[in-house]
Amino acid sequence: MSIASQYSHIREEIDAVCRTQGRDPSEVVLLPVSKTVGIAEITEAYDAGARAFGENRPDALCEKALQHPEYGWHFIGNVQSRRIRDIVAHADLIHSLYELKHVLKVNEVAKELGKVQHILLEVNVSGEESKSGLAPCDVACLLQETQECNSICIDGLMTMAPRSNRGEVQRTFSGLRKLRDDLVAQGFTQAPNCTLNELSMGMSEDWRAAIAHGATIVRIGRAIFDTSFVQ
Ligand SMILES: *Cc1c(COP(=O)(O)O)cnc(C)c1O
Repeated sequence: MSIASQYSHIREEIDAVCRTQGRDPSEVVLLPVSKTVGIAEITEAYDAGARAFGENRPDALCEKALQHPEYGWHFIGNVQSRRIRDIVAHADLIHSLYELKHVLKVNEVAKELGKVQHILLEVNVSGEESKSGLAPCDVACLLQETQECNSICIDGLMTMAPRSNRGEVQRTFSGLRKLRDDLVAQGFTQAPNCTLNELSMGMSEDWRAAIAHGATIVRIGRAIFDTSFVQ
């Protein structure tokens, strides 16, 4: 299948899964992760209806966003202090922040650039050592310490499921959803910079389970851009 037809196919499947779950399909953003491809492939997905793309390296984010600033760009990769200015300059949403010092720096740089930077906090729900992210019990503390940061908006949470068994995957997604609901119940969304509306979870192989647990953004790379991917 072509990139355009893979994109359309997944979008239709997402819509169908949403309807069986009683969810409104417009609640779920399909974010094609374009880190392995160039602008030609990205434009194929754009022409098929995609409106924002996920990149995990600052250089590629800058290069691609400069070529097509009218496309939306999300940063989903490892954040380093010295690259925060480039990321904030080009990203509509940063999915992968989990260190307080980085969140504070994003706020500072966004203020200088005259923007409000939308961010998600990455959470290591499964507790695997190889995964980055905040421990679930540390998220409340970070929210407390950033309540006065008025050049960021904390839109929600992001996680990566382990590649292991289905049970672990389900536990990870339901864990992120429950964490968000608990933080809302604790009043954190009363801060003007914190909505917690978004749950960024689910990739090529596990997005169905993520939607069942309330994902609002699914980040899909291979199932769109690898034209030999077996759906
Ligand atoms: C690469 C990547 C994805 C997409 O993974 P696929 O398995 O290709 O769908 C999603 N999220 C992050 C953070 C990634 O780095």
